[in-house]
Amino acid sequence: METYDTLLSSITSAEGPTRTILNPATGEPVGEAPVHTVEHLNQAIEGAAATQPAWAALGHKGRSEALLKAADAIERSAEELAQLLSREQGKPLNGPNARFEVGACATWLRVAATTVLEPETVVDDGQTRAELHYKPIGLVGAIGPWNWPMLITVWQIGPALRMGNAVVVKPSEYTPLSVLALISVINQELPDGLLTVISGGREVGARLSEHPAISKIMFTGSTATGKAIIKSSAGTVKRLTLELGGNDAGIILPDADPKAIAQDLFWGAFINTGQTCAALKRLYVHDDIYDAVCEELTAVAAAMPMGNGLDENNVLGPLQNKAQFDIVDRLVTSAKESGARVLLGGNPDYDQPGNFYPTTLVADIDNDNPLVAEEQFGPALPIIRYSSLDEAVEKANGLDVGLGASVWSPNLDAAREVAARIDAGTVWINSHGMVNPLIPFGGSKQSGYGLEFGVEGLKALGLPQVING
Ligand code: NAD
Repeated sequence: METYDTLLSSITSAEGPTRTILNPATGEPVGEAPVHTVEHLNQAIEGAAATQPAWAALGHKGRSEALLKAADAIERSAEELAQLLSREQGKPLNGPNARFEVGACATWLRVAATTVLEPETVVDDGQTRAELHYKPIGLVGAIGPWNWPMLITVWQIGPALRMGNAVVVKPSEYTPLSVLALISVINQELPDGLLTVISGGREVGARLSEHPAISKIMFTGSTATGKAIIKSSAGTVKRLTLELGGNDAGIILPDADPKAIAQDLFWGAFINTGQTCAALKRLYVHDDIYDAVCEELTAVAAAMPMGNGLDENNVLGPLQNKAQFDIVDRLVTSAKESGARVLLGGNPDYDQPGNFYPTTLVADIDNDNPLVAEEQFGPALPIIRYSSLDEAVEKANGLDVGLGASVWSPNLDAAREVAARIDAGTVWINSHGMVNPLIPFGGSKQSGYGLEFGVEGLKALGLPQVING
């Protein structure tokens, strides 16, 4: 087990330029991130190419054993990793936040290591025999965002490594330390050169996605960057898994019990202080229970403490960066100016040192208001009134993104019928955003394509080959 200081010093480069990373809760320095360039990227790709064949040759058993040891290593350093994640990303140690994220990294890595993907006999009729196999793709580039920096990295690298690939990771420039630290811990159990982090800017991501030696890009981030990656990867016909932006709708049916669902609604919307791709971002509530849902949700939200992530009392933190704070502020201001009713929050203290935006609930808001129509990616939830189910479904489906959605009702058959009418990659019933390492996850429309997790996730990191005969 390492101390926090040895973990931090292990990722701070002695050579080359660095950039000071600041804690979004306090503005104080967290550490120095190396500034890697395209030259470093080229070296990492050379190292990955040299190591990958021997890793592939280990077979599923050998690779699984190494990855299980890496999961153990994450657990041994869990508290130090969580401390760093909290300081850099801002999310509290407590609640479904930093310790939860580090714990989930170990869980997801173990599932990626142990999920079975057998060759499939597709036809065997006495005359024709065809088998579908999944071979290593080769070199994979993993480009990630700043909201769940460690967990999303594991979502990308776990199945990639398991399937026999080498990986070059390009973390968000907002949260490089968390990813560097996580990978340095994982690398205690992996061969040198197999898994490398290049802590550079957008130009490094762009080069990674056009590089001829990279055969697949796993990308999680905004829809705009996803479109740029489609273009830059086109010249080499790379495989892509794109987990992009969302603006998830939830529909509460008239028979739901507002008090019983208020806590789950809250966490569905405000987990990670709303900085979650598949979080509830637009809540459609039937007229009959609209006022009761507003009241119960406000009571739950008002009681959730927000503040410095290192304080064990807090379960909500700051926005990770000022740019995101400004987006949330602009959208809530537009809602207020339209005459919508603020139930809670909406009044940030602009003079405080951190990027704290208060938990905000906005009622009686039009569906075309920017707070509803745009991805706010922060702690602000618009609550829209509906009177007919067709109207609610039409509004839920009215955007060009479709990552997650939810339907809330004690009548599961009725809820499932509504779920089937919604255009989203996942529709949860009576919860929102509950991902599971065995259950496939991916977006529809401009929320991206390709599935992660479980057997489908392994297939996405393998190169299908048919042996016919
Ligand atoms: P972003 O698109 O700004 O950046 C993501 C990564 O892409 C960063 O590492 C960045 O350096 C890199 N990048 C930027 N330009 C690039 C280019 N031209 N080529 C290659 N790489 C480039 O996203 P963000 O602001 O860090 O993350 C927030 C967004 O991510 C939100 O829209 C959110 O919904 C989405 N997200 C989606 C999921 C999902 O599973 N669908 C999960 C988390 C976040």
